Amino acid sequence: MSKSNYDYDLFVIGAGSGGVRAARMASNYGAKVAVAEDRYLGGTCVNVGCVPKKLFVYGSHFAEDFHDAGGFGWQVGERQFDWPTLRDNKTQEIERLNGIYRNLLDGAGVTTHWGRAELLDANRVAVDGKEYSCANILIATGGWPTKPDFPGSNLAITSNEAFHLDTFPKDAVVVGGGYIGVEFAGIFHGLGANTSLLYRGDLFLRGFDQGVREFVRDEIAKKGIDLRFNTDVASIEALTDDENGRKRVHLKDGETLETDLVLYATGRHANTQNLGLDKAGVEMRANGSIVVDEYFQTNIPSVYALGDVIDRVQLTPVAINEGMCLANNLFTDNPKRTMNYNNIATAVFCQPNIGTVGLSEEQAVAEHGQVHVFESSFRAMKHTLTGSEERTYMKLLVSAKDDRVVGAHMVGPDAGEIVQGLGIALVAGLTKTQFDQTVGIHPTTAEEFVTMRDVTRTVGAAA
Ligand code: NDP
Repeated sequence: MSKSNYDYDLFVIGAGSGGVRAARMASNYGAKVAVAEDRYLGGTCVNVGCVPKKLFVYGSHFAEDFHDAGGFGWQVGERQFDWPTLRDNKTQEIERLNGIYRNLLDGAGVTTHWGRAELLDANRVAVDGKEYSCANILIATGGWPTKPDFPGSNLAITSNEAFHLDTFPKDAVVVGGGYIGVEFAGIFHGLGANTSLLYRGDLFLRGFDQGVREFVRDEIAKKGIDLRFNTDVASIEALTDDENGRKRVHLKDGETLETDLVLYATGRHANTQNLGLDKAGVEMRANGSIVVDEYFQTNIPSVYALGDVIDRVQLTPVAINEGMCLANNLFTDNPKRTMNYNNIATAVFCQPNIGTVGLSEEQAVAEHGQVHVFESSFRAMKHTLTGSEERTYMKLLVSAKDDRVVGAHMVGPDAGEIVQGLGIALVAGLTKTQFDQTVGIHPTTAEEFVTMRDVTRTVGAAA
């Protein structure tokens, strides 16, 4: 049942996590919905992000697993890694997921238009020369890797290409100290490349809890990744005629590194070029991201935007939740929903993983004044037999004034799996006393979160 006299009640540009969810929900609520997509269904997450990345992380961890098996009596024979097998199995799985997205859209009654969509004005969209009138337009075009311009930057790849390499590198240089940089450094290293990770500042993972950052630095360095901080690339020089061949990376301090591959993971920008946003008069920031209010409405009332393109929190589950809010608000009589960006649990799949929810110690002190820090670092039970030196780190931050747990952090195997549950506790506003009343599961690593009894230190001033 169409709710307007337009061709579509909602026209979504971009079939990524946020766009697809908004489209499906809107259609389920009775709206007539179309999606335009010019690349692949499922967006960054499914195609060149979360999903293939996690498969690569699994693949890369086998190197340690084979080693660890020895401590339990298993003799593992000669080991050999075949990159095309991992790459192509991954691609097959991604194609399966593309098909699932296709079925989800079709099943929900959403029309898919293949091609580049462009806004003609506040209520008209064109796809490959065909025009559609739309009561509402949603821009959900996501982001794209940002690579700075410098001599030889064309020789560096981004995460987009890293998923499809023809050959696996013997040596790899990763530039950037964010999620993608540390994750890919771990992947390359685990799969057997001599890996250097370069970051321009003192310590990578800016914005994360300082204790987490330092712990991850030490663990990653222990595994043998060459970490270089306060380092920047001046230029890259090709050492062969082949762009994919050996290269020399010139650093600003005069040092050089020879490598097969340079991956730039220096952030992502909103994918808003050539969408006709200027024609419709949609307000954007200097970095190209779209300005929206709490209901994801732009300055043009019929045009909405959500997900990475609004540059709030670049995470798939956030885009999905934003999409559900929008569909609810546009096509139901339910109370209007807004997105709560507090206490979003997240994981970084570096090795060992980071899981985190709530405030860092630095943020907790700034927001809550006096904070009790509960901290624990230990060798996980499994490694008592493996000989592995890997350690696990867990941390709770408790507001002294009301006993509320305002931050939970972990570095260790399956940190994301463990911290997801803690996310519920933080959203519920639970206190440290309630954590203490919770009986642990023994023997697990996770039980440490309910058995940390002694304050490690108290920081910040009481109000
Ligand atoms: P981030 O913004 O997380 O990190 C970018 C890194 O590159 C920072 O260390 C930054 O340094 C550095 N940098 C930026 N510009 C330059 C430059 N010109 N030269 C050298 N270094 C530079 O971006 P990512 O690309 O890692 O990831 C993008 C987003 O994708 C993430 O923020 C995250 O939201 C999402 N993501 C989430 C994942 C997950 O949930 N597991 C996995 C992958 C991505 P500085 O700190 O000094 O600014």
